[in-house]
Amino acid sequence: MELDSLSSLEKREILFTDIKNAIEVQWINMSKLPNDDAIIRSSLTMSDIDSAEARLRRFSPFIKMVFPETVETNGIIESPLVEAPGLRAALNGVKIDAGIAGKLYLKLDSELPIAGSVKARGGIYEVLKHTEELAVKSGVLDSYEDDYCKIASPAGKAFFATKKIQTGSTGNLGLSIGIAGAAIGYETIVHMSSDAAQWKKDLLRSKGVRVVEYDGDYTQAVAKGRAESDADPDSYFVDDENSADLFLGYAVAAKRLKKQLRQQKIQVDEKHPLFVYIPCGVGGAPGGITFGLRQFLGNDVHCFFVEPTQAPCTLLGMVTGLYNNISVQDIGLSGKTYADGLAVGRPSAFIGDFIKPFFDGIVTVKDKRLFEYMRYLWNSEKIFIEPSSCAAIHGPVIMNHSSEMSDYLFDNNLTRYMENAVHIIWATGGSLVPDEIRKEMLEKRV
Ligand SMILES: *Cc1c(COP(=O)(O)O)cnc(C)c1O
Repeated sequence: MELDSLSSLEKREILFTDIKNAIEVQWINMSKLPNDDAIIRSSLTMSDIDSAEARLRRFSPFIKMVFPETVETNGIIESPLVEAPGLRAALNGVKIDAGIAGKLYLKLDSELPIAGSVKARGGIYEVLKHTEELAVKSGVLDSYEDDYCKIASPAGKAFFATKKIQTGSTGNLGLSIGIAGAAIGYETIVHMSSDAAQWKKDLLRSKGVRVVEYDGDYTQAVAKGRAESDADPDSYFVDDENSADLFLGYAVAAKRLKKQLRQQKIQVDEKHPLFVYIPCGVGGAPGGITFGLRQFLGNDVHCFFVEPTQAPCTLLGMVTGLYNNISVQDIGLSGKTYADGLAVGRPSAFIGDFIKPFFDGIVTVKDKRLFEYMRYLWNSEKIFIEPSSCAAIHGPVIMNHSSEMSDYLFDNNLTRYMENAVHIIWATGGSLVPDEIRKEMLEKRV
């Protein structure tokens, strides 16, 4: 007994030292609970996800009108789920030798309309929710049953031109809020960290969005933006560090994925486990998706987050129990990574405690692997995803190369079912990356 507790303490210390030294780690979340227990303790429920989905449906005629790329999906912002046998074979080849058993799929949020990343879920949802509130209160809409296309009428546009939407972003959240906000007619301001990609700033400016740049990191951009917005009664701030609305927008993905799994006859049960790997920044996107998946698919879905070794903020918050009260800079990490969507030093205040009963673990990945994985995917499937997205590929790769992961599989009675497993790599972004930058990235070696 004593020996056991000593060794777990030692283990924790080794883990912490590895995190500090930017060594790749695999951490299993021992606080995960069986689904029923986790759900009972949760302040948000399935009905919150259902009502978020209903709101998106109310907006779909408007979305379809304003964003013609969504005509095909009737104004629903959704992405394909595709099998990736070529990538599986490439990863299982001699060089990486991933040994992936079962099937490998990609959830292509990189192809999501409007914003080209997972932020098209949470970010656009929050903008729409705020818009609905204002529209109904101001009389632009008579009720929740009214024709939402009225938002784009001259009267609607004139009203929203008097309102502001702001956010702080490393890039992709800014794109989704900026593009959606500007399309509705808001005065839209995006506060960006210095490391945000130039093409993202350029794209936003071309849509009439005001981009404010900061020398410091993302946390600083958010703090400045939040303060500026809070001082203005006509301004609304989309707060990636503390938003239940963003979270619910992401969670809707799970309800839609369940339908896609059924359509593609992908079985999920005790003997057919589903593994989902999601890149993690502040934790909102992976947290929301995971929360939804556990609600809709139960105990047989296993969710892992993937973070860069230089910015493992969610892992650090979990391991120390300090959540958003500790930053990666506090332990001497830079927070800098080519995975710009994950380049955050501090997790969301909303996520930590809330998501702990629902997800399985976190693994970290070095930047140099991201570009390798990018090329593997490109060469095998002709699919391009951005560096942040590529982090997720590390999930199925590390499965068979880590004692933590094999213990986890064994302890959860999964080892014997791995031949039946389905692995989903959540490809969180990429389609908006300009061609020249795409070419540069595909050749990059770090
Ligand atoms: C934002 C983002 C993530 C992670 O989302 P968080 O809510 O910050 O955890 C992952 N991938 C991409 C491409 C992103 O833009």
